[in-house]
Amino acid sequence: MNSSEIKNKATQNLEIIKNIPIDLSKEILKNPETGYKEFKTSKKIFDTLKTFELNVEDGIAITGLKTTIQGSKPGPNIAILGELDGLPVPDHPFEDKMTHAAHACGHHIQIGNMLASLIALNSKEILDNLSGSITFMAVPAEEYVEIEWRNLQRNNGEFEFLGGKQEFIKLGAFDDIDISMMTHARKSLKGFGYGGTGNGLIAKFIKFHGKTSHAGGDPHLGINALNAANIAMSAIHANRETFEDENHIRIHPIITHGGAVVNQIPDLVKIETFVRGASIDAIKDANYKVDKCLKAGALSVGGEVEITTLPGYLPIFNDSNLSSLYKENLDIFYDQDQIEKINHGGGSTDMGDLAHLMPIIHPYVGGANDGSHHTKEFLIDDYNLPVIEAGKMMAFTVIDLLANNAERANKIIKEHKRKLSKSQYLRLLRDISSNDTYNFND
Ligand SMILES: [Zn+2]
Ligand SMILES: [Zn+2]
Repeated sequence: MNSSEIKNKATQNLEIIKNIPIDLSKEILKNPETGYKEFKTSKKIFDTLKTFELNVEDGIAITGLKTTIQGSKPGPNIAILGELDGLPVPDHPFEDKMTHAAHACGHHIQIGNMLASLIALNSKEILDNLSGSITFMAVPAEEYVEIEWRNLQRNNGEFEFLGGKQEFIKLGAFDDIDISMMTHARKSLKGFGYGGTGNGLIAKFIKFHGKTSHAGGDPHLGINALNAANIAMSAIHANRETFEDENHIRIHPIITHGGAVVNQIPDLVKIETFVRGASIDAIKDANYKVDKCLKAGALSVGGEVEITTLPGYLPIFNDSNLSSLYKENLDIFYDQDQIEKINHGGGSTDMGDLAHLMPIIHPYVGGANDGSHHTKEFLIDDYNLPVIEAGKMMAFTVIDLLANNAERANKIIKEHKRKLSKSQYLRLLRDISSNDTYNFND
């Protein structure tokens, strides 16, 4: 069969049972879980994969799953990914009432489109024409949230990295993968978005320590940790004019604990923040400035600041050859007004980490409403486009990569200039990790 005949067969495979990936997506929507806690989600996917009589490896990085199907001849191993997690979004119409977890980023459709690709490709007639293998991975914890809880688990040795793909990389789950691809939901898209770049991030968890005293009677005896935190945040704002536009620096702290009771000088204030930027150097530079601001806050009141810095995600970029190949299929099957070139995005994903290790693409698909991601407004309106059509476009990309003795996949792999080896990558992340206390008590 030639490539277009293989693609026709893949479409037939999927169309007959396209309710299965759509129903799974809707089931996951109704049972949202946050990162490293996606036990119900993982079990549902495991059970679904088992109905296709596949060997499934589960429990990778706690809740992750992996299964591989083989072409008839040896060749590269292409991974198609989906993400398991939601994030806490109180009042989202499909929130878990206990945990407030909700699929406000559309990861439930990613699991659906990953499964749709599998269904499309998983038949003898198709695999007979492909050289190499296709690995389907459901990966935990993409949303970088619940930092305090995850850091506690990290200190207890449950996992080392807060992002699921990072932990997968460390555990060796990507050691045999040559190319990785996944399709993410995106608000306000008519069809598909391809290419683009995105910010990386460093995460920080900060504690200002002061001294408590009666807020009305004895404020002079206290050391006000909230004042220290306010001065630190003002100092961060004062640095914004020093950030250059092309570095896309974003620093957005929140106070997660601002004091105990109002008639007491606060002796403990906790802050979480991300320091985001378009390059590793720019993020490190901004992070250095943030640390100075945090110390300045503590210094100004004579208090103490404990700064925990955690490796976040690396900036993302798509492999240009792989992205062009993906777009060829969009051009064949969609009108030009349904295909959008993505620019730089301020958000971050651990697909950026994979981009430093191998050729990747991280295209976007519509089907969502206009609600901002991570808010209670974000919902998927149409499941056919982000599950079935997105799954099909990925399956077609795999067919183009692995047909004809995997000629195109091998060319992409050969021309790709890897930024980091696995050991360099792990060293980079581990070097970012730090925990330091600065005491300015007189
Ligand atoms: Zn997302
Ligand atoms: Zn998200």
